[in-house]
Amino acid sequence: MSFDPSLYQRPFKQFPAWICPGCGEGRVRPLKGWPRGRSPTGQWDELEYEYTSKQERFVALMACRNSDCKRAIAVIGTTWLIPVALDELWSAYDVHQFFFPRFIDPAPQMFAIPSCCPESIRMPVQSAFQLFWCDPAAAVAKIRTSLERFMDEKRIPAQQGGRRMSLHQRLTIYESTDVEGFGLLREVKELGNLLVHERSGTDEDVLNSLRILDHILDTSFGHPRSKRELAMEAAIAIKTRRMRGQNRNA
Ligand SMILES: [Zn+2]
Repeated sequence: MSFDPSLYQRPFKQFPAWICPGCGEGRVRPLKGWPRGRSPTGQWDELEYEYTSKQERFVALMACRNSDCKRAIAVIGTTWLIPVALDELWSAYDVHQFFFPRFIDPAPQMFAIPSCCPESIRMPVQSAFQLFWCDPAAAVAKIRTSLERFMDEKRIPAQQGGRRMSLHQRLTIYESTDVEGFGLLREVKELGNLLVHERSGTDEDVLNSLRILDHILDTSFGHPRSKRELAMEAAIAIKTRRMRGQNRNA
């Protein structure tokens, strides 16, 4: 299951077929009679020449369509009306109700985390899926945490000379084994730093970070390790051994 950011655009008119957080394969759909809530109202303001809508709240129960799973999820959010013009002069228009989820429990599986991915990385990524809906900046912070755990898995030292290394320093070491991956992960790290200062983030920030993370995790843990990867590791091991030998003989 590849990552499809279009499933996570909001607000929306129709509930998207999100991926079930239970089985990771089935799609969730609203149960009969849901969503529920007070219907929003709106009116055309002749003075401002614009349509204004009052916001209301909705709740929705959804369930996985996979008959072996049927996992239920609960959605809470805001709803309002948006007019759509039927001609260029706005002499006629239709009004549509839009939904903006602000909390989903349990949150949809935004992409399939490879089964070989270590738990230490999986946990912050799952938290990012949950936080996306209510706090995008916090979701990006969790993705940044997953990069630290990824560096641990790649055996990049976390300390040097007794001092803790920054993620930037660790990424610089990682660059020697994966130049392309370094470039991608550095952007995610920089975004995390920026959002700490700005104290807010957008859906797009999270979706872009997840797009990169999905690729990196799939490359590292999604397939049996390639011969090239094994050969590269062997070469590094030989080089390390040679250096040790040289130091001893010096
Ligand atoms: Zn399911």
